[in-house]
Amino acid sequence: MPTEQASSEQVSFIAWLPDLIYTKGRFERGLALVCDEGGRIARLVSATEFDEATKFAGEVVRLKNRALLPGLVNAHSHAFQRVIRGRTERRTRSHSRDSFWTWREMMYSAAARLTPEDVYDAARMAFLEMALSGITSVGEFHYLHRTPEGVAYDDPNLLAKEVVRAAREIGLRIALLRVAYARSGSQVAPDARQSRFIEAEPQTFLKHVAQLRADFARDETPADNNSAEALAWVGIAPHSIRAVPLDYLREITRFAVAAQLPTHMHIAEQPAEVSACLAEHGRTPVALLDTEGLLSERFTAVHAIHLTPEDVTALAHARAIVCACPTTERNLGDGIVPTDDLFAKGVRVALGTDSHTQIDLLEDARELEYHLRLQKLERNVLAPDDNDAPAALAARLFDCATIEGAQSIGAHESGELVAGQSADFFTVDLDDSSIAGASIDDLLASIVFSNARTSIREVFVGGKQIVAEGQHQGQGEIIENFKALQRRLWQ
Ligand SMILES: [Zn+2]
Repeated sequence: MPTEQASSEQVSFIAWLPDLIYTKGRFERGLALVCDEGGRIARLVSATEFDEATKFAGEVVRLKNRALLPGLVNAHSHAFQRVIRGRTERRTRSHSRDSFWTWREMMYSAAARLTPEDVYDAARMAFLEMALSGITSVGEFHYLHRTPEGVAYDDPNLLAKEVVRAAREIGLRIALLRVAYARSGSQVAPDARQSRFIEAEPQTFLKHVAQLRADFARDETPADNNSAEALAWVGIAPHSIRAVPLDYLREITRFAVAAQLPTHMHIAEQPAEVSACLAEHGRTPVALLDTEGLLSERFTAVHAIHLTPEDVTALAHARAIVCACPTTERNLGDGIVPTDDLFAKGVRVALGTDSHTQIDLLEDARELEYHLRLQKLERNVLAPDDNDAPAALAARLFDCATIEGAQSIGAHESGELVAGQSADFFTVDLDDSSIAGASIDDLLASIVFSNARTSIREVFVGGKQIVAEGQHQGQGEIIENFKALQRRLWQ
């Protein structure tokens, strides 16, 4: 246990005392989590320290019948796509067979019509649902930049800022992964429906990224050195090999490496994307990035479904991260992330809710395993070979939803409940019907494989409570505004 800090008596600390805390890969009974005024975890200590309240200068909060877990990190989101939920689950008349590509038509039709205020309302709705499901940080892969006519707004980051404003209102941490999108594809005519995404020159893109970083830095200047990590920061996201020519990709990646920014890119989601890359570059997307020296430990390959064994090895050598989005991938018919192969080579896997067909990162965690069970007709496919503890598989999947996600989006002080990290966490009600009766040894597997969102009762980001008794304080108004948006868009 870390020793008590000398300054602890001078600041307003809070100690949370739940029944169980998930720390260092296991649930512990009888611990208190102590947070300082800057929103960091100061220490985890025996709860018996708080039996005599006078000894502690701060506030003591007993969380009865609760288990406390690190906040979930959603590494891949397109918040505005929340508006097409439920509207793409029918066969389109113009196509005999639906696919990712026909779904995309519907997504474009929504993207073309949203005003800045609509973007804010849609994002608030998506982020509200994230908060209610225990997500405390999000990586927003943001590609709506321009007016519907394809003209830059007076502030070229207006829509990115609307998304960040929504995250701030909900209380989530956000990595705004600003998307570079230059073209429809190699040898493909420009598509007017993509005009809101396009910044054709890398210099334009980089100028806008620099402006956004400067604006965030101004807003986020910590009051003192004790403040926890930022609530909003910037990463870059070349959309895909299809959408970004190689020279452009080289230039913006060089910039991101120098500035140590997280870099995310859609990779090998669909076979057609891989074959287009082979046709243009003579290499798979991962092989192209590898031979160009563009993979790194700050690089996240989103989806990474249609990989060769050599691709997996290249990702492993570069220490790159894969972000799987299984609830979206099953919805879009994308395919199955080969997580068994990735784990075998030591590749870290984060998780994202992507298109927001469903916002439940624990469902993504279990789907990572379930998709492989269905494919291989086996069970416990992703269980580690070197650990036969009862919770080993669940812990591995839970790490994907927390630690690996935090690394992917650059939330370096989130993902674990240990001293020095941000106090980002959620609680589950141990009497919730979905997990009641679990022992301390099988609670994590109950949560990872069987949890219903009704169990999630409190959510905290940087020590600040954003969900109480399963509700966010802005919930009523946020939902009403979103319903009005949906009526405007679709009726
Ligand atoms: Zn995506």
